[in-house]
Amino acid sequence: MQEDIRRAAEAFKKQTRKLSQEESLKHFDIQRAQYDKEHSEFIKQYEHKNCYLCGKHFKTLSKAEPCLHWLLRMCKFRKKDFPKLTEKFDFYQISAFLRWVANAECGVKNINNLDEECSDRKVFEITVKWKNVEWTLDCSKNDFEGHKGTRTEFPHWHFQMRIDGKQFINFNDYHIRFSKDDQLKIVLEKDRDSGFIHSFGPGGLGMQEHMDRLAEDPDGFIANAMSTNNPVEGAVHLQSFVKGPEGGIPIEKINQAMKMARETGKTLVHCFREVLRDDNEVSISTILSPSESVPEIAKRSERKRR
Ligand SMILES: [Zn+2]
Ligand SMILES: [Zn+2]
Repeated sequence: MQEDIRRAAEAFKKQTRKLSQEESLKHFDIQRAQYDKEHSEFIKQYEHKNCYLCGKHFKTLSKAEPCLHWLLRMCKFRKKDFPKLTEKFDFYQISAFLRWVANAECGVKNINNLDEECSDRKVFEITVKWKNVEWTLDCSKNDFEGHKGTRTEFPHWHFQMRIDGKQFINFNDYHIRFSKDDQLKIVLEKDRDSGFIHSFGPGGLGMQEHMDRLAEDPDGFIANAMSTNNPVEGAVHLQSFVKGPEGGIPIEKINQAMKMARETGKTLVHCFREVLRDDNEVSISTILSPSESVPEIAKRSERKRR
């Protein structure tokens, strides 16, 4: 890690330790209010296919004003123009924009930032999908340190972009420099006792934040999902196991549950819960997992250096 980043991280930690809980909550509220304001401006423009950053239509490409909306590829954006974006916007700005468009289109499920799918060798691995476009942001520990003894011995990340499933930008095309601000945020985020939590605001929530929230109130979530037949727009997969007594569940109870499911449109598991409510010998357990419709993280194979 670079010396100046390390020092800045230490200074930040010292500063936050001095803050009272009240002060840090206030700070969080201010940040939250700024995000909300910016995000509602974003949505207002997004609905008209306009970009809130530059004010232009998504189909406009103005060479003089490189803008992140180019990445939606509704304009004639070419691969060789990509460095113009990374010169102007840093990793957190690019991430925020991609998360916001994906979230505006269909909620958390098109943002796969799940920790359990991220390899240990990585600083981050995130795949974001929007309509026919898929972006993957990838950084290994080696990238973050810089590839020693090469021309890319500086902290960087890699980017892949696919359109209709076809490669448009490859991971190896660019080594994208992190800004100082990026580096500081990453270092603080990885440091559990830094007291620093980066948020992309409510409009930037991904699957990981979503699963974290569910973990806080699983019962509330299950009750809600089961009674609506609409488990959070398909972001989460519910799998239930019904375990009956020795002799099995009586056939009339099964029929009753099936009839109830047909008539009410609620899930079968919900109806089993209702029908078997007073039966102590029956247990129903439910497992929550990210649904199949969450895009898989596009994996980058790192070339072994000799
Ligand atoms: Zn724009
Ligand atoms: Zn690299």
